[in-house]
Order: sequence, then structure tokens, then C-alpha cells
Amino acid sequence: MNIIPHVIGGVHTEGQGARRSDVFNPATGEVASQVVLGDRSDLEAAVTAAKQAFVKWSETPPLTRARVLFKVRDLLEARRDELASAITAEHGKIHSDALGEVTRGLEVVEFATAAPEILKGEFTEQVSRGIDAYTMRQPLGIAAGITPFNFPVMVPLWMAPMAIATGNCFILKPSERDPSASVLLADIFKEAGLPDGVFQVVQGDKDMVNAILEHPGIQAVSFVGSTPIAKHVYAIGTAHGKRVQALGGAKNHAIVMPDCDLEKTVDALVGAAYGSAGERCMAISVAVAVGDVADSLVDALSERARNLKIGAGTDNSNDMGPLVTAQHLARVSGLVDQGVEQGATLVADGRGFVLSGHEKGFFIGGTLFDNVTTDMAIYQEEIFGPVLCVVRVPDFASALKLINDNPYGNGTAIFTRDGDTARAFTHGVKAGMVGVNVPIPVPMAFHSFGGWKDSLFGDHHMHGPEGVRFFTRLKAVTTRWPEGIRSGAEFVMPTHG
Ligand code: NAD
Repeated sequence: MNIIPHVIGGVHTEGQGARRSDVFNPATGEVASQVVLGDRSDLEAAVTAAKQAFVKWSETPPLTRARVLFKVRDLLEARRDELASAITAEHGKIHSDALGEVTRGLEVVEFATAAPEILKGEFTEQVSRGIDAYTMRQPLGIAAGITPFNFPVMVPLWMAPMAIATGNCFILKPSERDPSASVLLADIFKEAGLPDGVFQVVQGDKDMVNAILEHPGIQAVSFVGSTPIAKHVYAIGTAHGKRVQALGGAKNHAIVMPDCDLEKTVDALVGAAYGSAGERCMAISVAVAVGDVADSLVDALSERARNLKIGAGTDNSNDMGPLVTAQHLARVSGLVDQGVEQGATLVADGRGFVLSGHEKGFFIGGTLFDNVTTDMAIYQEEIFGPVLCVVRVPDFASALKLINDNPYGNGTAIFTRDGDTARAFTHGVKAGMVGVNVPIPVPMAFHSFGGWKDSLFGDHHMHGPEGVRFFTRLKAVTTRWPEGIRSGAEFVMPTHG
């Protein structure tokens, strides 16, 4: 049996923890490997190595750090295919989609190679007579990243390059459901010349997460996952004095206005709802049909949902692959059952989908509900599967209110040709990432990624300028040199002049 190890102090190790967890190939339903589940002694070893590495790494000039990241970037490019294959093997998503994930992660590395530029402080000459002031941003120390199963390369790369470029050491605790990519990433950082202990991987489940949250040697925790766990991570991490950014789940709505280009809108919705089998935090799971567009929208969507090409992720001609585990498949199917019981109209039913030759794979077909209302479980829960719910509303104001009343606020979009409506939407909607005729408005690496409301706990979004702020603390320095004007002891609050 292939065992997926930790990477501590630059070395692959099975560590001290005795527990193991099965890792499946979702397309076949078979156990492909086992991952070690670390315990507190494994975390202790990683923190000790990081503490040692931090002494030199934090003193390494940003330009030198950036040069390592340039090499990381090249290695990621060269090994894109291998990384994508590792993602597909354990997550199940289509290989071409996995390649896209690697590219979006690589772009954060590219942004982080600007370390000397992004770490520049501000300088003000002559804040008072003979006195100058400047600011600098310094690393926090050891940062941990706790990541979800659905982007095993991209989400760790939202965090690690930013933490490392800014002079921190980084410990990754990936999802135990698809952990192989984390080991490849650690190997790539090492091969690029990153000193041992600066990027490490500790494998584990909730016990490892809680050990991280309580460890006094870790200064910051960057988390991405579901909302209940994000809340827990934020509460426990901050109670232990850590800086925490915890990105949670989502229920992303797209408003479809009657004046939209229906054909393009349907293309956009199908990709955004069913791509990666709906296992994306930015997936569109609710289409809000405004006025008389609803009937034609549902007709077009139902045709497309029924004709999705579903199969193993290794075949790029497929539109979507399986769900990640049998448990997740049972949960998604159960929610579809509830939707039917609670009175939604099931237009396309993906339950019971069986792929010939892959009978034990965790597959479900594309599912579409119409006439969904806000009291139904399929509206309230984040399904995280290929299930699109259509809610009908009479006008734009009701659509906007629906989104703003929803507890989540990750991504949202509007499809319209009308500038006034689009402007009213972007201005008034309560969500962190907004698209106008763009279904999945994931910000590029040089902007920052994050939601509002129950989709993010903490003060900072991920990567881009917000990532720099999260992984550094500000220091303001005020200087006066002996030759400057002196006025003797001052007992009042200093003011300029
Ligand atoms: P999850 O919350 O189950 O797991 C995330 C991480 O938390 C994993 O590393 C896991 O080991 C750990 N964990 C799980 N249960 C825990 C517990 N009880 N105590 C402590 N730690 C625990 O999420 P997932 O199923 O891996 O990923 C899917 C979720 O992530 C969805 O809700 C999705 O919306 C969300 N997500 C959000 C974003 C975003 O940017 N907002 C991005 C990707 C995924």
C-alpha cells in the first residue's frame, strides 16, 4: 500500500502518529493509498524545524527569497501535468480542469516573486523639523495553512508563496482526502532551493487542526474549508492569540435578467454549476430567474444538464467527473431526495447515474431543480455537488434582496445587457466577489480572494495585497539624528511643527 507521508525538515516521514486514513480513487471507488494522520509530536517536530529555519529565512533579503520563488514557478510549470494527474487521481476532477487549477496557483507564485516590491514601506520626510518617518512590514514567524479537498494545489498556493515571500515559515495541513499533491509541492519548493523547514507538510485530520490552533509556536493560521469548521478555526485560533483568516462555504447566486444573452448565459451557468461536479466554492448553485426569462432558461438548462458528458477525470473529453467520496455522494443524493420531498420541481435527476466499467465510482449526474424556495434544504444547505436550483422572482429588487438575505456572501454574478442594473448590482450586493456576465469571478493573483458574511471569518482576503498584509505586521519608525534641531526634554504629546 502506498503511504502518503509528512514532509518535515525537508524529509518525507511517516512520523509518530499511528493512525492512517484511506485515500480513494473516486472514479473507481477503490482505495488507492493511505495517508498518515499525524499527532502532536509530529507537529512539534515541524514547529521545531520551522523555528530554526525562520532565523535565517526571515533575514534573507526579499530579492533572494523571490529568486527561489522564480525557480518554484518554473518547476510548477514543468511539472504541471504531474500535479494535475495527482489531483485527478484523488479528487476526481477532469485533467484539463486540474491543469487550470495548477495555473491559478502558479499565478500566486508569480505575484509573490515581486517580494521586494510588495514589501516596500512608506516614507515621509520631515514629519516634524529634522524628523523622518517610515514603515516596514515584517514577517510574523510560523504560519500554518489548513486546506480543503476541492483545490489540493491551488488553495495551498494561495497561502504558501505569500507567507514565504514575506519571510515566514509555512506549515501546510492539507485535506486528508487528497493529500498527494501536498507532498509534490513540498518537493518542488525544496528542489527550487528553499531551505528545509521553510515549507513543510503535516498530514492529519481534525486532531492535527486542533493541535495547530493550540500550538503557542504558530503565529498565524490561514484556513479554507466549510463554514462550521471555519468558525471553529477562527474562534479557537484567535482565542490562542493567533492571527486567523478563515474562508468558509458558499451558496453562490447568479441573477438572470430578461434582457441577458440567453445562449451565453446558459453556457456560463452550465459550466459554473456542473464544472468540477459542483465541488467549487465559487460554483453557481442558485440561478435567480427574473420575470419572464424563467421558462426559456429552465428549458435550455434542462437540455444541457441531461446531456453532460460524465466520466473519469483522466478523459479530457468529459464535462465532469465523480464526487470525492462515497459519503459525499450519499449526502448530495440525500439532499436531492429532500428537494423532491419538500416540493421543488426536479427537472433533471442525476441520482443513480452509473458509468459502465466504473460501477463503484462516486458518480452522480447533472441535477436541476425549478421552483425552489428559500425554506427548502436544497436552498439553505451548501450542496457542493452538480445540483443547480432555479428560484423564480418577479423583479431585480427581489433578486438582490434574496442574495443579500442569504447568510453566505462568497461569489455572485448577474447576466444582463443593462448597465444601470449591473451598476446597481455591483454597488448593492453583499458578497466579496462579483461578476457581471462572468459566472465565476475569481480574482486574479494580484487582487485578493475572499467572501463576506459566513463565507469568511477574519479581516483579510487571500493572496494579492491582502495576503501581504495578513502574513506581515507593520512597524512604524520615527527618526531624528543628533545633528537635527533639538529642543530639550519635551513633556507634552509630540505634534508636528
Ligand atoms: P472541510 O471544512 O471539511 O475541511 C477543511 C479542512 O478542515 C481539512 O483540512 C480538514 O481536515 C479540516 N477539518 C475537517 N473537519 C474538521 C473538524 N471537525 N475540526 C477541525 N478541522 C476539520 O471542507 P472540505 O469538505 O475539505 O472542503 C469543501 C468546503 O470548503 C466547502 O464548504 C467549500 O465551499 C469550502 N471552500 C471554500 C473556499 C473559499 O474560498 N471560501 C474555497 C474552497 C473550498
